[in-house]
Amino acid sequence: MMKKNLLRELPSVDELINSALKKHFRYSKALVTDAARAVLEGLRAEIINGKRESLPADLASLVEERAASMTSSSFKRVINASGTILHTNIGRAVLSNEAIEAALFAAKGNINLEFDIEKGERGERDSHVEGLLKKFTLAESVCVVNNNAAAVLIALNTLAEGREVIISRGELIEIGGSFRLPEIIKKSGCVLREVGTTNRTHPKDYIEAINENTAIIFKAHTSNYRVVGFTADVDLKELSEIGKKHNIPVVEDLGSGALIDLSPYGLPKEPIVRERIALGADIVTFSGDKLLGGPQAGLVAGRSELIEKIRKNPLKRALRADKLTLSALEATLRLYLDEERLREKLPTLRFLSRPLKEIEETAERAAGLLRKRLGGAYKIDVEDSESVVGGGSLPGYNIPTKAIAVTNPAETPEKIYRLFLENNPSILGRIKKDRFMLDMRAIEEASEVVPG
Ligand SMILES: *Cc1c(COP(=O)(O)O)cnc(C)c1O
Repeated sequence: MMKKNLLRELPSVDELINSALKKHFRYSKALVTDAARAVLEGLRAEIINGKRESLPADLASLVEERAASMTSSSFKRVINASGTILHTNIGRAVLSNEAIEAALFAAKGNINLEFDIEKGERGERDSHVEGLLKKFTLAESVCVVNNNAAAVLIALNTLAEGREVIISRGELIEIGGSFRLPEIIKKSGCVLREVGTTNRTHPKDYIEAINENTAIIFKAHTSNYRVVGFTADVDLKELSEIGKKHNIPVVEDLGSGALIDLSPYGLPKEPIVRERIALGADIVTFSGDKLLGGPQAGLVAGRSELIEKIRKNPLKRALRADKLTLSALEATLRLYLDEERLREKLPTLRFLSRPLKEIEETAERAAGLLRKRLGGAYKIDVEDSESVVGGGSLPGYNIPTKAIAVTNPAETPEKIYRLFLENNPSILGRIKKDRFMLDMRAIEEASEVVPG
């Protein structure tokens, strides 16, 4: 009975639209109409489900709120206190100011993306970054696609379609987010030829698998796990010797692919693209938004003759990077020209090499603010912890860090996790050993991890 009465009290769509329009909200009639319908539908459902016993007083304001939420962005800022520095789910590398400005510049108007201003004719879009990439990788040629998965796909499809790709069983990797090498090889139109075993593969395994239909010897950097114990693999130098002898190109998927040696920054040595080229890889593929610290992109570096074929593949047109990516990538690469200033300017490198003392200072400051903000039963402690690089870089390597444990005997860690996540901006921590933690390695401003 009460439900029926309440439903009868609801205004008609037209009445609600008119009362909302009279308030002169900043929305058009069409949007107000959509919002009014949604508000009425929501109320009706609540009444029918017994979740409502009276109507809100100001329905017009509900329409305005609804219109505001309908037109607001689905993207929210996420503060990365997760301890994973290159976190794929929240967009990996944070761009440098230089890269941000470059993308903005490109977005605001037209640019000479693939237009040669000197000649007044069509140019080549990858030319803006190829020179720098050649300089840093010492490859003869480099081309750019949308991500490293695309780089692997186009390299395989160009050089081995309908033919065999030899790869060690120990390197048939899966990277998070459904990149599985066997599937990419299949989708590239190639035939997978596995050799060796999960833990041991020898040169003769490759040599015995070579036949007249072999197109590529493929090597994948096992970037998110390590095989330890009784293991053997064939190093790149030896593989490239086998490749040369049989006239078969060696393609390496390096994944992260650092452009520079990271050991001076206190990090373990991740394979450097330049060194892989020098060791004899004919093609190396790597990501733009992992250790390189730039926008999402896939780089294919290698011998001119092969890169030229890749450029001519119609897939290149489908996988080409856009002007925002190429502009941000070029600006990121230009930072590498002055390696002395690189750390200061490239957030990824700055976070990864941040001195523990500095992290601790920020953590203590943030802990003070959190105590003030949360108070009561919350316990806030700064502790030793470990960050990981993420994005499949430096597997098994943990970087000492400082984290803030936020605990409350009256709340589950999941509840606290949600409390921080639901803040605007979202604060992404993690639950470790049944406690909620904020890793401070990528947090340079203490107040960022304090909910508003
Ligand atoms: C990360 C990674 C990929 C996928 O690269 P995206 O840029 O995410 O497409 C492929 N292979 C390896 C070895 C990786 O580490």
